[in-house]
Amino acid sequence: MSPFRSHMDIALAEAEAAALRGEVPVGAVLVDPAGQIVARAGNRTRELADPTAHAEILVIRSACAALGSERLPGHDLYVTLEPCPMCASAISQARIARVYYGASDPKSGGVAHGPRVFSHPQSHHIPEVYDGIGEGEAERLLKDFFLARRR
Ligand SMILES: [Zn+2]
Repeated sequence: MSPFRSHMDIALAEAEAAALRGEVPVGAVLVDPAGQIVARAGNRTRELADPTAHAEILVIRSACAALGSERLPGHDLYVTLEPCPMCASAISQARIARVYYGASDPKSGGVAHGPRVFSHPQSHHIPEVYDGIGEGEAERLLKDFFLARRR
């Protein structure tokens, strides 16, 4: 299995765990320049009563705390859904090298949609972005979650 797929599989497992907690099923994994996973998380906005507790923010906070640095150069972020504008901005602030995401998010995404944070002239750091990795599974998790909530 390619590292891209196996890291995304862990992000998908975090998304599934988030769904079981009643959170929007989004998961993220942060990988250091040596290829080691340094943080993994799913959304915890409800549990923490914190609108900023998106999976991406949680892994960035955790990795920065462990490293004692506000920047994560050379790190790769895997996330099951296109990052929102808040997370895209945090990814840029953290100087993350590469972002791999699964499903696209026309409604709330901030990378390929909406403000397109990384293409904005105010973005001082632009990561490499790879989309559509594990897309089908990520979409299925989100669809099932929102269907179940509507019932
Ligand atoms: Zn976000």
